[in-house]
Amino acid sequence: MNFEDINAVKELLSQPQKIVIIPHKNPDGDAIGSTLGLWFYFQSIGQEAHVIVPNDFPKFLKWMPGQAEILNFERHNTQAKEKLQEATLVFTLDFNHLGRTGQMEPFLEALQTPFVMIDHHQKPEDYAVVTYSDVTMSSTCEMIYNFIEILGGKETITPEMASCLYTGIMTDTGSFKYSSTTSRTHRIIAALIDSGANNTKIHNQVFDTNTPSRLHILGCALKNMVILQDYHTAYITLSQEELDTFGYKKGDTEGIVNYGLTLDGIQFAVIFIENKEEGIVKISFRSEGDFSVNEFARAHFQGGGHTNAAGGKSDVPLEATVRTFLEHLEDYKELLSK
Ligand code: 5GP
Ligand code: MN
Repeated sequence: MNFEDINAVKELLSQPQKIVIIPHKNPDGDAIGSTLGLWFYFQSIGQEAHVIVPNDFPKFLKWMPGQAEILNFERHNTQAKEKLQEATLVFTLDFNHLGRTGQMEPFLEALQTPFVMIDHHQKPEDYAVVTYSDVTMSSTCEMIYNFIEILGGKETITPEMASCLYTGIMTDTGSFKYSSTTSRTHRIIAALIDSGANNTKIHNQVFDTNTPSRLHILGCALKNMVILQDYHTAYITLSQEELDTFGYKKGDTEGIVNYGLTLDGIQFAVIFIENKEEGIVKISFRSEGDFSVNEFARAHFQGGGHTNAAGGKSDVPLEATVRTFLEHLEDYKELLSK
């Protein structure tokens, strides 16, 4: 954040505000961690704030401090709309364009309220009065820590806030191993532990809560994996029928895409997940090295994200989606062979 932005935020927060904090649709650990972390901070400085999620979030995050107070735009629609209408300030976290809020988008577009964006995805849209965007950041949670520090609130970080921010940094860095993890990330993590984040407990709550459906779906996904050695690519499909057979629940497919990259020589990993209810195939892309899945997702699958982790979707059936993917892949053969 530059000097002007910091002053603009300080000015906004010097008045009593009614704040709404919003993460992206299908919120992950970083989205929920950052919104709740900021929510606790606003409470500590006496600002009224509410977190509104576009839709539900996975069970493995439902232990997080403050999560029970979250309003769900789908489930608490009237109340959520009321809060948005009353809001004097809206914070959008962990996403770069309003389309990432799904059904909330038209509603947010219509608001006259000032927005503040805090995000680490590439190519942020220009809708906010203050845009704190930094694509080098490991996570939005790391940015929220910086934000609180800039506003002089570092000493006020409670165990609850620390647990929320720890969770998002942990999930977005693949437990501190992705290349976005810096020495500063580790220093912030250390500070969060000092402020009361129980690291062992958080890891257990997020990663050691497997269910039969999750493990069966993982088994099915690994069996379905196709390895294209010549393209340094591995992809996985999960049909709606397969998901139904194993009793799919939200969050069950989280992280499965990463298995492809653990294979020697594989630089590009993809998972296609059929969602009959929404009439789409949800796609996750991961890469190692310079191959930009952000650009691939943006160019071919209505998506985006980061250089090494991105998402997108397709409106045609699963088989046709995979065929289209393979056609596009041909054009990247040389790039992937580098
Ligand atoms: P995931 O594959 O875990 O859903 O997402 C990987 C990264 O890409 C995350 O940072 C996520 O926010 C972003 N992402 C996922 N889906 C989309 C999408 O449809 N559009 C855009 N712009 N980003 C996405
Ligand atoms: Mn994130």
